[in-house]
Amino acid sequence: MSDNELLQGLRAIVGENGATEAPDALAPHLVDWRKRHVGVADAIVFPRTTEQVADVLRFCAAHAIRVFPQGGNTSVCGGSVPATEGRNIVLALGKMNRILDLNPRNNSMTVQAGCVLADLQEAASKVDRLFPLSLGAEGSCQIGGNIATNAGGTNVVRFGNTRDLVLGLEVVLPDGQIWNGIRTLRKNNSGYDLKNLFIGAEGTLGVVTAAALKLFPKPKSVAAALMGFETVDAAVDEGIRLQGLFPGELVGLELISRSEFEISLRHGHELRNPFPDGVPPWLVLVELASSSVGDALTAQLQDALEAAYESGACQEVVVATSDQHRNEFWRIRHNVTEANGREGMGLTHDIAVPIYTIPAFMERAAAALATHYPQATQVVVGHMGDGNLHYIAMFSHAIWAEVADKAAFQRDLSHRLYDIAAELGGTFSAEHGIGSLHVDEMRVYKNRVEIELMQKIKSLVDPQDMMNPGRVLPS
Ligand SMILES: Cc1cc2nc3c(=O)[nH]c(=O)nc-3n(C[C@H](O)[C@H](O)[C@H](O)COP(=O)(O)OP(=O)(O)OC[C@H]3O[C@@H](n4cnc5c(N)ncnc54)[C@H](O)[C@@H]3O)c2cc1C
Repeated sequence: MSDNELLQGLRAIVGENGATEAPDALAPHLVDWRKRHVGVADAIVFPRTTEQVADVLRFCAAHAIRVFPQGGNTSVCGGSVPATEGRNIVLALGKMNRILDLNPRNNSMTVQAGCVLADLQEAASKVDRLFPLSLGAEGSCQIGGNIATNAGGTNVVRFGNTRDLVLGLEVVLPDGQIWNGIRTLRKNNSGYDLKNLFIGAEGTLGVVTAAALKLFPKPKSVAAALMGFETVDAAVDEGIRLQGLFPGELVGLELISRSEFEISLRHGHELRNPFPDGVPPWLVLVELASSSVGDALTAQLQDALEAAYESGACQEVVVATSDQHRNEFWRIRHNVTEANGREGMGLTHDIAVPIYTIPAFMERAAAALATHYPQATQVVVGHMGDGNLHYIAMFSHAIWAEVADKAAFQRDLSHRLYDIAAELGGTFSAEHGIGSLHVDEMRVYKNRVEIELMQKIKSLVDPQDMMNPGRVLPS
């Protein structure tokens, strides 16, 4: 099939303006957010309906064209751009961005996959409900991408991962069949729970076109504070104590190293350092939410943190005095990914370990870095409440430029850290997914039975390997 026939075939399904091969239009969809992964595609298609997605997949299956679904293109593991070779199309979901049903009495909303996460948070808020998924990319990532990657973010400690927020799914299978699994039930034991197969499959088994999502009552009061610690051990001990003190109210528990905090401040527009006497070695950002009105929650948090301060457990406490103050803390936290990109070449690791082993991980990781990569700075930010750390080995651009075999260098460094996580009962991939970047690690760190079972499922659902080939699974 010629390029022109491909384009005409797609346009016959989605209309003249729904597909293009123009290099200018394609370009932003072929490179990832961090500009580290670049792919090729013969065309990009923008379906508006589930039926159009189904027709596109049928058409592509018939002509051996590989399909790479794309949401907000904010993947940080090379998942969102097409492969570097082959006959590919990008299937961009951005025009499927309608809220189909919003039902506060059922605490649910049903939405198309291309809805931007922040828009869904806002829609829920307008009917006095909370959609709790929250992450730095929420202004551009899409719910379909969140579902495909089983995204985590800052509220997992209270509300779980995306998987825990999905009640039902609609998926178009690689052969064009539509599976309508949209339901808003809390209980449904009727055979295999198929939705969980597609959540976290990173588009390798089909295209998520719509989802039914859980909503929660909107909190009436929120309290937040930044705490400073001398050691990571003390920070983790305090985090565990706060989990016990506020089991229903604790919604965020983030760990930040001084190096990361300072990078965020350095590259953040109008960000203010809340610590006048200098940034402590370790920071914990804690947030509570409650359905009770008034200042009681802030007072409770203040009391708990004063006790920690007086006992010497922490060295600094800054309690947010207003919503604006609280937002300032979160702006520093959410700015880290962008700021790290400006700072240098950060090799980021998305590991998770049981929370009580975080100090052991940090001690061993720091020793490995100091011994083998003394040019690197250790930069850490993470969702401490669920044991997920983004451990970044930061190199200056000048040093990175001198590294001859960058892929081998990165693999060697990463595997030293992944080995430590694995020995502590942890994982090399907590929330960002596998994409094209971590396929090698699947081979190394997952067991044979798991991989073979996944490969069997993949070949059953997608026998032609047309959906996101080269992602997630080793061949
Ligand atoms: C600043 C920043 C902060 C971030 N913070 C977090 C964080 O705290 N927690 C976290 O988990 N992640 C985080 N991420 C990573 C990223 O935002 C998430 O992985 C997000 O869920 C991806 O959504 P997206 O719409 O951008 O998907 P994309 O990046 O476009 O795609 C990601 C994967 O999903 C597939 N996909 C997309 N849409 C569909 C669909 N409709 N059907 C089937 N497959 C699909 C793609 O093929 C690809 O494999 C962050 C990224 C950035 C840039």
